Amino acid sequence: MINAASPIIGDKEKKLTAEVLSSKMLASGKYVKDFEAAFAAYCGAKFAIANANGTTALHTALLTAGVKAGDKVITTPFSFIATSNSILFCGAKPIFCDIDPETFNIDPVLLEESLKKEKNVKAVIIVHLYGLPCNMDAILKLKKKYKFKLIEDACQAHGAEFKGKKVGSFGDASAFSFYATKNMTTGEGGATLTNDASSEKYARQIINHGRDGHSTFTVLGYNYRMTNIAASIGIVQLEQLEGWIKKRISNADKYNEAFKDLKFLKTPIVPLHTRHVFHQYTVRVKPKERESFMSYLKDNGVGCGVYYDCVLYNQPFYKKLGYKNGLCPQAQQAAKEVVSLPVHPSLSKADIEKVIKTVLSYKGCL
Ligand SMILES: *Cc1c(COP(=O)(O)O)cnc(C)c1O
Repeated sequence: MINAASPIIGDKEKKLTAEVLSSKMLASGKYVKDFEAAFAAYCGAKFAIANANGTTALHTALLTAGVKAGDKVITTPFSFIATSNSILFCGAKPIFCDIDPETFNIDPVLLEESLKKEKNVKAVIIVHLYGLPCNMDAILKLKKKYKFKLIEDACQAHGAEFKGKKVGSFGDASAFSFYATKNMTTGEGGATLTNDASSEKYARQIINHGRDGHSTFTVLGYNYRMTNIAASIGIVQLEQLEGWIKKRISNADKYNEAFKDLKFLKTPIVPLHTRHVFHQYTVRVKPKERESFMSYLKDNGVGCGVYYDCVLYNQPFYKKLGYKNGLCPQAQQAAKEVVSLPVHPSLSKADIEKVIKTVLSYKGCL
């Protein structure tokens, strides 16, 4: 079976992790500092604050942007649930805005409509879904006009670029995840990025019980810290990230070329001026076709997945909060049609050929 995702852990990770274990500095320490500096530099942001995971990194980002109880925060319903849960954890209200069906990302035109209608929106969380950057020209124009705080959920988009600039460096703050299946991993882990020095200071307090100095606690904080063990894995992973991204892009190019004339399947687009890092290679098929297409792939040894088969506001917990079905029709349609094929960097040439052959032979196209 060709797995849909597969973390790569090599000897260098094992060696550095062994050093941390021998040093007995298991919690905070030098490796966390080094990883933060390296990751901020890679993303072109001033500060990175290492976190326990991507969800805490998002929560931290929202708090540094001043999101508090009663505030309105606009986001996409076509994402992982941590995106909107982090808004609820601030006591704020998620407002869902539909996606552009071509990119799967929040639609800037609809975002402006929503900003006009809602008034006094405190913040917007954009998600660079599957590794494709949002249209940052359009989003930054809206930020200037409507003066909201911009948070980037870059949990799937390490190394993605818009007009040559890395995602995670555009907003007031951003969040990355280093979960096992992301484009790089620390097991569990995350990072909040910001270019603002006072936000950095506040973020460091949030992740460390609100501590200001040794035994003084001046704000409400939690323990959202990353361990030295996780950071040591991250340091080695980051060194390899660019090579892995290039493999993902090259794998995606091969699929795009092979599938371009298929009638039953729509390949992902890469808009001008964007670097898509293909956390997922996601195609669309007709809703009625999806189950049989996926069974065919799996029966023939090709793993695949659906991200996501339900929009966030239709999850039982959100229904209980009063959100109504039908709010964002494009996102709901995408949820019925998307299928992600294996695109990760450990796929061999033979694996890629097998995925292509299997997709083409569905419906006898081969
Ligand atoms: C993975 C992910 C998160 C959460 O990250 P964790 O590290 O799993 O907490 C948030 N948003 C998106 C879009 C993600 O893909």
